[in-house]
Amino acid sequence: MADFNIGTQCVQGGYTPGNGEPRQIPIVQSTTFKYASSADMGKLFDLEASGYFYTRLQNPTNDYVAAKIAALEGGSAAMLTSSGQAANFYSIFNIASNGDHVVSSASIYGGTYNLFAVTMKRMGISFTFVPADASDEELEAAFRPNTKAVFGETIANPALTVLDIERFAAAAHRHGVPLIVDNTFATPVNCRPIEWGADIVTHSTTKYMDGHGAAVGGCIVDSGKFDWTKYPYRFPGLCTPDESYHGVTYTERFGLEGAFITKATAQLMRDFGSIQSPQNAFYLNLGLESLHVRMRRHCENGLAVAKFLQSHENVTWVQYCGLPGDKYYELGQKYLPNGSCGVVSFGVKGGREAAERVMGKLKIAAIETHVADARTCCLHPASATHRQMNDAELAAAGVGADLIRYSCGLEDAEDLIADLKQALED
Ligand SMILES: *Cc1c(COP(=O)(O)O)cnc(C)c1O
Repeated sequence: MADFNIGTQCVQGGYTPGNGEPRQIPIVQSTTFKYASSADMGKLFDLEASGYFYTRLQNPTNDYVAAKIAALEGGSAAMLTSSGQAANFYSIFNIASNGDHVVSSASIYGGTYNLFAVTMKRMGISFTFVPADASDEELEAAFRPNTKAVFGETIANPALTVLDIERFAAAAHRHGVPLIVDNTFATPVNCRPIEWGADIVTHSTTKYMDGHGAAVGGCIVDSGKFDWTKYPYRFPGLCTPDESYHGVTYTERFGLEGAFITKATAQLMRDFGSIQSPQNAFYLNLGLESLHVRMRRHCENGLAVAKFLQSHENVTWVQYCGLPGDKYYELGQKYLPNGSCGVVSFGVKGGREAAERVMGKLKIAAIETHVADARTCCLHPASATHRQMNDAELAAAGVGADLIRYSCGLEDAEDLIADLKQALED
């Protein structure tokens, strides 16, 4: 499978049925799995044998879909989680704990910002937020001796900044820590962060991957390339024995390619239990089968809508990295040459009130706390996902009070544009 193009991997990756087996992935709707002896079971509990015993840790349906996403991202291993929030939490908590520090782009999803700045802070993990376009000096200054990772989003939700992945990866690697990239908006169809130096990739599969607003979910992919064993003092959880598994050392037993995901499954899933249901994994896989086809249409609609908005007198600014002249156009051309996503941000004359008025008049685009869906939807982040932030934090996250996040679905661009036109001119 690894030799095939991305579209073929979207359709067929992760699951190869044998003779007489189901063509579609089976939904293994079972909490538990049967064994002949306690000794067999014991080996699984000691991580000495691989196999299924309880769906909180692993389930075959989920594993087929995780394997597909690992292939799409060019990673060595992957795991599904119940949501994108769980994926981002695990990706950091797997290597950072009380007393540790993480450098993050400030331009990230509001829920992730809250997770980092409020909830994980309560766990004793501190974050330094840097602008998405931080200079090398600014980036350098953010590191501390206890820094364990660097985090950013390929295309930030909703600010639509584009992360200079190579530069962030270089800074992370100079300090001997991995770069974690949330690739939700770009999807591996448009950007594969591992090819640019990212070490771990996360997803809210709720968005384009599912693509139909059917199932909340997340995924973590490990590149298998970060050499934890070069810094055993920094990553003791991966490089020293885990007492809760009779002294297994993840990097020794599972190698660089398996250590990170095995540890996250064996410890974090075991203890926190944020699993994706096999039924949701099945829906996710249906979405993945058409991801490459849908992304092309989302991007075509995004560019057409962005161009229309740019030409409209009642629109004060448009952000879309596919638009020539956009602040992130060059980075977009570098990292997302085939298209970015279907999400366009813009502001209207009259600021916050006008934004709310225009949104209320849209007939095709529904106001939703959702994005990256087959149906066009829109949101005013300052009064929804980002309402916990004050004006300074909003500005740092690149989310002005007038910002409308408009997520182009798979409808016809002419209809979306006509709808926007009537709402802007009414
Ligand atoms: C939505 C989103 C998340 C959170 O994902 P959920 O599936 O809603 O938990 C994380 N990161 C990005 C970029 C998102 O868009």
